[in-house]
Amino acid sequence: MKFRVALVLVLSLVTTAIHAEKISLVGGTVINPADGKVLPNATVVIDGDKIERVAMGRQDAATLGKQIPCVGKFILPGYIDTHVHFFQSGDLFTRPDGADLNSVRPYKDEVAWVKSHLNDVFERYLRCGITSVVDVGGPFWNFEVRKTANETAKAPRVAVAGPLISSVSREKLDLGDPPIVKIDTPDQAREFVRKLAQQKPDLVKIWYIVDKDHPVESFRPIVRATMEESHAHKIRVAVHATELETARAAVEEGADVLVHSVIDKPIDDAFVKLLKDHHTILCPTLVVFERYGRTFSHQLNLTPEEQKWGNPEVIASLDVTKIPPDKLPQRIKDALAKTDETMSRIKKTYEVALPNLKKLEDAGITIAAGTDAGNIGTIHGPALFREFQLMKEAGLTPMQILQCTTANAAKLFGGDIGGRIGKIEDGYLADLVVLNSNPLDDIAHASDIDMVIKNGVVYPAASILQ
Ligand SMILES: [Zn+2]
Repeated sequence: MKFRVALVLVLSLVTTAIHAEKISLVGGTVINPADGKVLPNATVVIDGDKIERVAMGRQDAATLGKQIPCVGKFILPGYIDTHVHFFQSGDLFTRPDGADLNSVRPYKDEVAWVKSHLNDVFERYLRCGITSVVDVGGPFWNFEVRKTANETAKAPRVAVAGPLISSVSREKLDLGDPPIVKIDTPDQAREFVRKLAQQKPDLVKIWYIVDKDHPVESFRPIVRATMEESHAHKIRVAVHATELETARAAVEEGADVLVHSVIDKPIDDAFVKLLKDHHTILCPTLVVFERYGRTFSHQLNLTPEEQKWGNPEVIASLDVTKIPPDKLPQRIKDALAKTDETMSRIKKTYEVALPNLKKLEDAGITIAAGTDAGNIGTIHGPALFREFQLMKEAGLTPMQILQCTTANAAKLFGGDIGGRIGKIEDGYLADLVVLNSNPLDDIAHASDIDMVIKNGVVYPAASILQ
């Protein structure tokens, strides 16, 4: 017992020593997407967990602490992925409601694997320079994920929503703590928001699913009640809405955040003005639109970053040809049989989604980068670099993309922490990514990572997944 107390003391002294250390990144180019400023030959002084100052030119060595030479390097705020789901692994078995493979791998085994690999997922985010993430919906144990992440040094900062409030249920995901809860009346919605509020969620999430049995107007009173009750508790609301009229209804009812792009038709000027007037933040999650179809039709296009930094077990599972044909669900059989149709559906989605994103960006709407990682084929961590490629295809400049994943994303993260991340400024939290090549020349360089700094602690990139 005595030994244990002594050990705790020693450990806490070590931790304090790490955090109290003053370090300076000397001679690099600081890129601050918040205001688009680029400072060559800059020195970033970090004291403990905070950025003390950013200075130009020669500095008095006595004020710098330990110096880390950064000549030729590019220093950015740590990236933020504003749309992930920790309850999903990204593997083939993680959404039995979409592709039931319980006969190959029972969903309860999948959930157990997910829960036992949280630290692995956290480290993969850090390896990708992602120092904060927003989990936009999952079971109540999401709140434990946030607690664990915030107590773990080698992990991103985590903001969370609880279970999704939905017009439809997903029984196959319900093992006692369902990630999606069907709500039938405004009173039920208010009661559920009050239950969520006890957990202090960073967001409340509505899954506004519309089809012929669930028209936009039928669920709208529940959307309204959810917004009113959440806002009364000072909690923001994020809404999944992928059709123009669903998204319009969500914003009219007061959505703070729209998740996913509008993919059914081109957005109109009235919609753009609506988002502008309401200061709505939009998170496009482009990558997820290709990954279900590509995985199911055996056309997966994982990037080199995903191959290197994604979880190998997750990636190995995504080869549908390894599943015995008699165990494949119809949806995958169809996708395999009609590859062309699957691929042309993805192409059509981007033909609408990418111009919609460009139109919103040009109009000055706050766009926050996010991937929907954890869904089948969307890899926790490096999926963000595929998202950057797609944002580039939409016509965004490297600086705009970097702004989406730093300063804008911090606004979506929200709260006290959201006000202290996403910028390289005096007093901000020392969450940084240091690159070997200039991301303003080519956004592909955003993954050319030399080191990652989280909460003032330096991690050489190559050491993170070892
Ligand atoms: Zn999602």
